[in-house]
Amino acid sequence: MKDLTQCVITPDVDMDGFETLGAATYRGSTIVFKNAEAYRTRGERGHQGYTYGLYGTPTTRTLEAKLTALEMGVRTFLVPSGQASNSVAMLSFLSTGDRILIADNSYPPVRDFANRDLARFGIEVAYYDPVAIDDLERQIDGRTKIVWCESPGSTTMEIQDLPRIAQIAHRHGALVGCDNTWATPLNYKPLTLGADIVTEALTKYVSGHSDVLMGSITVRAEEHIVPLRATLGRLGIGVSPDDATLVLRGMETLGVRLRHAAEGAAEIIALIQHHPLVEQVLYPSLLDFPGHDIWKRDFLGVSGVFSVVLKPEASKHAAAALDVLRTFAIGASWGGTRSLIAPMPVKQNRSASQWHGEDLVLRVSIGLEDLDDLKADIEAFLADIAERSAPAKVSKAS
Ligand SMILES: *Cc1c(COP(=O)(O)O)cnc(C)c1O
Repeated sequence: MKDLTQCVITPDVDMDGFETLGAATYRGSTIVFKNAEAYRTRGERGHQGYTYGLYGTPTTRTLEAKLTALEMGVRTFLVPSGQASNSVAMLSFLSTGDRILIADNSYPPVRDFANRDLARFGIEVAYYDPVAIDDLERQIDGRTKIVWCESPGSTTMEIQDLPRIAQIAHRHGALVGCDNTWATPLNYKPLTLGADIVTEALTKYVSGHSDVLMGSITVRAEEHIVPLRATLGRLGIGVSPDDATLVLRGMETLGVRLRHAAEGAAEIIALIQHHPLVEQVLYPSLLDFPGHDIWKRDFLGVSGVFSVVLKPEASKHAAAALDVLRTFAIGASWGGTRSLIAPMPVKQNRSASQWHGEDLVLRVSIGLEDLDDLKADIEAFLADIAERSAPAKVSKAS
């Protein structure tokens, strides 16, 4: 073989005895075949076979297999973001003339996708009160092909009664999809409670380091594998094996990170729950949280994300007071090593239910920093609001 050819060809090296713990990063677009017959019949390799890089590599299959096992489904597909997991899951099972019912507290970009794109394709989009079973029952009909859930709901944290919702949806021939980003597959297994499709923003807890975007879609039944895989292929959606490696690495510590974040959240909540400036903490493990009983029945734990509603007089100063934070960072997303606070407006994302609290809700994600620093930050934040609320009462020594 001539030099220029040697430069191009990857030699076979012996892999025997090379057993590592982590997954290798296999990059590849072209898959080559032993002979023309193998190429001609490549379509018969099935959804797990390798035919082209877009449809998966051993690296992405490894991550998919881990997620499939944790979600207790039959197959997982990886997509480039959590948002894509929701939009692709919807697109794969909806056609013109169908209807989708979406929980009113869903991740706001999901609403935007449904209102703009699904509507553009002649799919009727409607919203239901996430905690009112009678509202779902009243709105569902034979054209409804998907009932979309997110539990707890983005920012406001309502817990849905998934088994009952699934019962109603299935009676009308609709599929149930559930965004499981808050709980992760460690703390909630929607496919065992009646959901047909579960999505995750792996961007958050599963990858865990705020350095990669990825989403997953896992299905409960074999019959849903082919429509999803076909839609992904036609849209040309796949993920990079390098990104999959990052998620695989992050996922190894998911359990300890989640437990740590939940313990930290409990301590911060204990610090602020009865503070005079705090109206309510929204967190499903709190005994007086409206969905607590369902959470206790269906979930295996909590994550470190909770929301805080301030008293009206405090709420108007919250945004400005965020500037005193030194350890918490201000930003969207969550589930990484850094603690984050994001001020979220709620009412603009409601159409089927009323949000009676203050419009601005502070979403808090507890990371891995020393809790003393986080507590000091929160105390400084509340003190700053107190000072802004009642400047006359604070007499700085002068
Ligand atoms: C962040 C988030 C998403 C989107 O994930 P990205 O990877 O950022 O696109 C979807 N659903 C929920 C509930 C989220 O919190």
